[in-house]
Amino acid sequence: MIKLFISTLCVFICFNVFGNTVKKDIKNILSGRLNHFETHAIFVNLEKGLPYPSTLDNARVKAVECWLQVPRTESDFKQFNTFIINAKKVVSKSVSLRLNLDLQTCEALNLYVGDELGKATTILNSVIDEIQINGDMQFEHANALQVLGQIYRSKGRFQDAFLVFQQAYQLFDKGDNNYNKALLLRQIGLIHSDLYNFKLAIEQLQRAIFELTAYNEQEWYKATDDLAYVYEQMQEREKAILLYAEISERVHKYEDDEGVAYPLVKIAEINIQLGNLDRAKLFLDKASNLNIESDWAKFIYSITWAEWFVAKGMNTNAQAYYDQFSSEKPQSWSVDSYKRFLEFKRVLAVNLNNSKQEVDALNALLKLEKANSKKIANRTLLSQQLEFDWEQRGREIARLEQLTNINNKLLEASNSKAFWQIASLIFAITLAIILALIAYKQSVHKQRFKTLALKDELTGIANRRAIFTFKKRAINKSVSSGKACSLIAIDIDYFKQVNDTYGHDIGDELIISVVKSISKNIRETDCVGRVGGEEFLVVLADTQLDSALEVAHRIRENIDSCVHTPHKIKSTASMGVIEVIQGESPVDAFKRADIHLYTAKNTGRNRVVS
Ligand code: GH3
Ligand code: MG
Ligand code: MG
Repeated sequence: MIKLFISTLCVFICFNVFGNTVKKDIKNILSGRLNHFETHAIFVNLEKGLPYPSTLDNARVKAVECWLQVPRTESDFKQFNTFIINAKKVVSKSVSLRLNLDLQTCEALNLYVGDELGKATTILNSVIDEIQINGDMQFEHANALQVLGQIYRSKGRFQDAFLVFQQAYQLFDKGDNNYNKALLLRQIGLIHSDLYNFKLAIEQLQRAIFELTAYNEQEWYKATDDLAYVYEQMQEREKAILLYAEISERVHKYEDDEGVAYPLVKIAEINIQLGNLDRAKLFLDKASNLNIESDWAKFIYSITWAEWFVAKGMNTNAQAYYDQFSSEKPQSWSVDSYKRFLEFKRVLAVNLNNSKQEVDALNALLKLEKANSKKIANRTLLSQQLEFDWEQRGREIARLEQLTNINNKLLEASNSKAFWQIASLIFAITLAIILALIAYKQSVHKQRFKTLALKDELTGIANRRAIFTFKKRAINKSVSSGKACSLIAIDIDYFKQVNDTYGHDIGDELIISVVKSISKNIRETDCVGRVGGEEFLVVLADTQLDSALEVAHRIRENIDSCVHTPHKIKSTASMGVIEVIQGESPVDAFKRADIHLYTAKNTGRNRVVS
């Protein structure tokens, strides 16, 4: 009897211990804080324990295993198919609807990666339907939307993608899932970049990067790489180099040789564009010691060398690359690769004084740019004003086309070298005009979004980016003027309870009401911004600590004594106040205010700590 009792107890305890470990390990994997290597180590351990006494644990392990797969080649995908069939069996045994839907979402993601968009969309829609019927599966819902958004984006359905990401963001927000929120910011940034709204793309990507610094570096790296590429498209080369350099410093921790080579080659490429050929060579040499095997990595490596040789005027070497590329049918490459090839071809032709080849290259470049400008026109959300600009541009392009046609006829008529030279000049001018028009268009667009990009949507005050910029300027100014500058970090107390009790919308109204309390207690020269959900920063220029404390106390009392929203909610806030110390960086100053804020939280809330 005792034996039976003990063994039952053991089964019970063991079961629980196992259950808890599996759950804990998986939670750890999904936290977003581990890199590939760390995740892999935990997972190998989890797999060793299979099968677990609990069917639920077995299902959990299979479901998470699915998310760890990264099929790339055809044989990877075959293996994945076998895996998913087996995993479905294990998961269906557990009769957990949640895990079932989770596995299907993961399957859809991999189908999408394997370019089977139709199948992926069907699965996701049925997953989302099922969630809507059964309710209470916020995380699974958001996850499915997140994958669906990626599919829409790859199909060019940007508006749909945006809506779906927004929905997913709200769901993750309700669940306080900051990691997934940050991943979505990156996706939203990428949509803006697809739409050529670089300003907004930068804003979202910077936010994503900032949030991701708390998590694993791989996702941080992807977002940073995206941002660097946006800067490249904007011709902000120095900024792009800085970001690639930052990646380069850390990338060896979580990538193989090719991953390490990538930022080096990018830095070389941009340095070539800047004319820093010696610097470029330094980075190319570093990359040459690494093992580069896949097609894409080989391509960017060799085209960059080709660009280096041609920039250096080493025409024999450049010609060898040219012959090699030409034999690979560059027309079938991606637009960006083909464009790089054409530009290389053009410069080589100039070096070799081969006007015919130069015209060829220019003509092909012109075609590409024209297609691209159409793409911009189609993709950009245009206001009346911008539409007008586009009509103007359309006329300009028509005029240029006429010019080109006349030119082509003349070209047919003559073969003389002088003529080719004039022709190439005309092509070059045409191309330059088109590029200038595109640049002009982008700058108009930038302006339009500038105001939008600096305001917090909910409250109308400065958003995180804007208030941080203001803080930096105020601190820099105080350094040069020798006057003091203070910061107040504010966080609403027990805000989550308000959301939980009254709903998100009333939560939003409380935020607006608290912002009013803050705004009416600061001077016009001060600035308040929203740095997070219910967190704010006040920057008080030309203000010493004691005055800043007075302001903070006034704000605290005001929030405490008011009733907020139509529900007459009582609310309080905690605050950390600092005066910026001589030589302190804006980032450190904010951190210090934040530390005081946390002390205020930990010592009872509704108080000001300095
Ligand atoms: P504490 O006193 O420690 O600050 O507790 P808290 O509940 O205020 O803080 P916590 O950080 O736990 O929760 C903040 C909540 O704010 C979680 C998140 O869902 C919610 N939130 C974030 N942004 C928004 C928003 O824009 N609107 C609404 N309604 N809620 C938001
Ligand atoms: Mg709070
Ligand atoms: Mg908070």
